[in-house]
Amino acid sequence: MAEQKMDSDQRTEQLKAVRDELLALKSSPLYEYRQSNGYFPVAGQGDHYSRIMFIGEAPGRNEAETGRPFCGAAGKLLDQLLDSIGIKREDVYITNILKDRPPENRDPLPEEIQIYAPFLDRQIKIINPQVIATLGRFSMEYIMKKFGLASQLKPISQIHGQVFKPNPLLGEKPITIVPLYHPAAVIYNQRLKDFLFKDFEVLKPFK
Ligand code: URA
Repeated sequence: MAEQKMDSDQRTEQLKAVRDELLALKSSPLYEYRQSNGYFPVAGQGDHYSRIMFIGEAPGRNEAETGRPFCGAAGKLLDQLLDSIGIKREDVYITNILKDRPPENRDPLPEEIQIYAPFLDRQIKIINPQVIATLGRFSMEYIMKKFGLASQLKPISQIHGQVFKPNPLLGEKPITIVPLYHPAAVIYNQRLKDFLFKDFEVLKPFK
């Protein structure tokens, strides 16, 4: 127990270092936009010991104004999805591939992903989850490539809700990857929303 607490405190410290470095990240092409709008970087939020880690795309306006991931309309749906499988938001860890809001919520650019990915990589190492659920195609592509699943990458319409078990990276424990539709992409499409609710069921064993 004492050991676990010590590890937990270390995790908090390490995650705080990630957040502090993001705050100071002047080299990001999104830094000026963040500063001129009085926005915050959105590092991540949730249980530092969670078995489940969600990775979305990028903060929207609500998120950049508060510094909290998924706190707008997409977040409301994410809460409903978690609720549908009996998981509380505070028991999972939620982050994004980009940590700053892109102008007009446009798609992430490759150079932006390149700048922020090392922060995400550190968060994954610190949280050490059993399952990563990617939300949307950008985090799906990044995570599947990172874990050696590039050859199994297909359009999200073909692999959403599938369970991937990559060979563990050297010295790492086994991990499961589940690509999911992005909540924002399904809000106004009942058919895709139904898929997303059904896909969430695969996360139940990781509760
Ligand atoms: N969409 C995302 O991908 N991430 C958020 O935090 C909010 C909306």
